[in-house]
Amino acid sequence: MEDKEIKDVRCPNGPQRLFLKLRIEGNQNLVNPELNCMELSCQDCARTLRREGYDIFRVLHRYAINAELIETVVVWENGKETISNGWV
Ligand SMILES: [Zn+2]
Repeated sequence: MEDKEIKDVRCPNGPQRLFLKLRIEGNQNLVNPELNCMELSCQDCARTLRREGYDIFRVLHRYAINAELIETVVVWENGKETISNGWV
């Protein structure tokens, strides 16, 4: 029996850009998703916020290794960060 699953990692907003595909094998619950995450810089969200007039340096989506979105981090031009679970 194959115990593999392919999961898409996508931006949660707008056209939902595909970042990557994950091949998940077996039971991933052994890993704490808070400690093991992927951080992906999103051009689409940064562009959307800039168009609305915000001074954005970059937008990061953090995903657990099982491809679940943990949170989104907005990094402002002044160095401050806003973190939300999901979208801003
Ligand atoms: Zn995004």
